[in-house]
Amino acid sequence: MPFRSLVAQPADSLLRLIGAFRADPRAHKIDLGVGVFRDDHGHTPVMQAVKQAEMRLIATQDSKAYLGPEGDKGFVALLEPLVFGRGFPAERRCGLQTPGGTGALRLGAELLAKAGVRRILVGQPSWANHAPVFAAAGIVVVPHAMFDMGAQRIDLPALRAAIGQAEAGDAILLHGCCHNPTGIDPTAEEWRAIADAVADSRLVPFIDLAYQGLGDGMEADAAGTRMVLDAVPFAVVAYSCDKNFGLYRERTGALWATTPEPQARDIVLSNLLALARANWSMPPDHGAAAVRIVLENEQLAADWRGELDALRTRLQGLRGELAALGQVGSVDLAPLAQGKGMFATLPLTPAQIEWLRATHGIYMAGSGRINIAGFAPGDIARFGEALVDLGR
Ligand code: PLP
Repeated sequence: MPFRSLVAQPADSLLRLIGAFRADPRAHKIDLGVGVFRDDHGHTPVMQAVKQAEMRLIATQDSKAYLGPEGDKGFVALLEPLVFGRGFPAERRCGLQTPGGTGALRLGAELLAKAGVRRILVGQPSWANHAPVFAAAGIVVVPHAMFDMGAQRIDLPALRAAIGQAEAGDAILLHGCCHNPTGIDPTAEEWRAIADAVADSRLVPFIDLAYQGLGDGMEADAAGTRMVLDAVPFAVVAYSCDKNFGLYRERTGALWATTPEPQARDIVLSNLLALARANWSMPPDHGAAAVRIVLENEQLAADWRGELDALRTRLQGLRGELAALGQVGSVDLAPLAQGKGMFATLPLTPAQIEWLRATHGIYMAGSGRINIAGFAPGDIARFGEALVDLGR
């Protein structure tokens, strides 16, 4: 019996946390665990612009015939100016639709493995799924320090040291914006230093851009990515529309690779298509078609941008409220104002995290990551009191 050799795997710790939160009867419990946007009422809404696009799609779609392993080409083409800006030469890149950002990460990792890349540098901490995805593609993950958690900023010397020790041809994972789980993005000067160091060491940047628009806006959130792409001949960008279009379960993403010249680009694209074919054959259509309809329609695109602005404004407002609490017990919340996107990681021990859950009904990941969108009005004051209580 071949299955007898299998070893039981631990359940996903965040899913366990969700179960425990649901089962908690306390009225004032706070869920900071799950990684999706929430409104003031704890709801993850469908964006109105996306709803409109879905209705148009249902009304006009006259065939469900296969599109091909590249997915919806219009979707990919409309995302390109948002990701690359107008300056990047089109003949230096190729892209295709993927099942979510995770599908893009996996496909990009498989492309690198097939191209002979053996190792990827991953700054710690990182999204919990990064290491398993790269490992599943046969790439060795080399963890390295890059955050000063106490000061809540990038530890540039540690990052530079890691890059300096890497071998030419190694890959390096970079979060394009709204770092998960720290919320700490490089400043413009730090991005410049990172791009130069990566180029000097001849590494292949693997940029994960999963939260564009949730930090400082669509353009600002792509600035670091563009700086890196301009500095190197070869790179990979994994993209997710699941957060900035609120499409989560529709699994909507894209992958691009950049090359110095079109001949290499064509070969890379043919490999991406072959790898996609062997993985999922073709990506699911619905989410990408809805994004395409939004982006190709001026009014829907403007509506979507307005809704995205509102998400970002809510996150920035909550960050401001948290930061205004300053030092609470052992935790200084002031630096959270500089963070971007949905996440922050607080310097708490597992015992303190468990105590906050048991005593105050505050649920956060075991790493100390909080989803800032999980706060409802009034929650932040209670959160601050709980942290004071924790320090007693
Ligand atoms: N990259 C990061 C940093 C993420 O946080 C996530 C999702 O949480 C993803 C990629 C994957 O996104 P998707 O849901 O589109 O697969």
